[in-house]
Amino acid sequence: MIEPSAATLERVIEIRRAIHRYPELGFEEHETAALIERELDELGIAHRRIAKTGVVGVVRGRHPGRVAGLRADMDALPITERSGVAFASEIPGVMHACGHDAHVAMLLGAARTLQQHRDDLCGAVVLLFQPAEEGPGGALPMIEQGALDDPRVDAVAMLHVDTRLHAGSIGITPGPVNAAADELAVTVIGKGGHGAYPHTAVDAIPAASAMVLALQNIAARETDPLKSVVVTIGTLNGGYRNNVIADEVHMTGTLRSHDPQIRDELPERVRRILDGIAAAYNVRVDVQVKLGYPPVVNNANLAERFAAYARALELARVERPLATMGGEDFAYFAQRVPGLHVRLGVRNESIGAVHSGHSAEFRLDEAALAVGVRTLIAFAVGVGGGEVSSEEALGAP
Ligand SMILES: [Zn+2]
Ligand SMILES: [Zn+2]
Repeated sequence: MIEPSAATLERVIEIRRAIHRYPELGFEEHETAALIERELDELGIAHRRIAKTGVVGVVRGRHPGRVAGLRADMDALPITERSGVAFASEIPGVMHACGHDAHVAMLLGAARTLQQHRDDLCGAVVLLFQPAEEGPGGALPMIEQGALDDPRVDAVAMLHVDTRLHAGSIGITPGPVNAAADELAVTVIGKGGHGAYPHTAVDAIPAASAMVLALQNIAARETDPLKSVVVTIGTLNGGYRNNVIADEVHMTGTLRSHDPQIRDELPERVRRILDGIAAAYNVRVDVQVKLGYPPVVNNANLAERFAAYARALELARVERPLATMGGEDFAYFAQRVPGLHVRLGVRNESIGAVHSGHSAEFRLDEAALAVGVRTLIAFAVGVGGGEVSSEEALGAP
């Protein structure tokens, strides 16, 4: 097995902290992209810009073999950091609260190691540094601009840090691991009037209230309890003052699901329920559903084989965590080629690394980054065909 050097692992932490200090939002990752390009230049790895702030690099092994894709997302979140770490964000209101700083650093560490060992490497490794995972999404434009085509990627993997799993663990689950994340926008239209004379108006507020409650029937009464659906109304706005009847209410929400068939049925279910309530309350309703990221579905064969491979290499404790209802645009990569979303345990109670991603207090145990680098290398080597004269080849995905 190709091993990262101690110097490489130190550099990974250095890079992670540098990116953590200067977090950038989606499609604004200019400094992050420049840092990636400087690193790749120093390593002599060919690269190209893609999807505005994305970068694709290619490590070519000396021996023929398959092509592995490794993806790291680059963007931060509009959150004011309260983690208390010494290298906290220096950009007001922006924070790497989802660990994408670590994802970039680990992929650079894997790239450095693979490049140093390319004489022993079969196939090629495509490094996919992706912007805007938190929205509006960089994966799809990267694919449309040929990120998986030159050379053609045979299987693709990503890591995501996860504070549910302890540092020293990785999580590999076959099948769905993230949910489809579709957006809902609802406008309820009544007729305004004086708060003292409701019979002269059509109040949009009780109608909207009934809609919020009735929508929960989709998850509670209309979906197989062994399947997963979430309907969340996240905003509800309407009205002018205490004694005026509201003529309009606006609501937005998110629809989450794993099963593609259930996902397809959700917009119609929402419309049927809201149209029925609108008729009952004598209001009009406008319902817009915007499809977001599809569910991430791990290729079952690839997941099982890589889990066994990781155990054989003693990379980490290999767990099988439950899927989540979070969204992740790696889904688009995994729709095109066999894909694997690996969760990287970063939990460590003794340093307060317990808060979930998207929390202002989010921290991670940097000791886990070495596990992540080894995991990325193992995937690349395994897919490529194994080290020369190695018995450890992963085989075809
Ligand atoms: Zn996130
Ligand atoms: Zn994330």
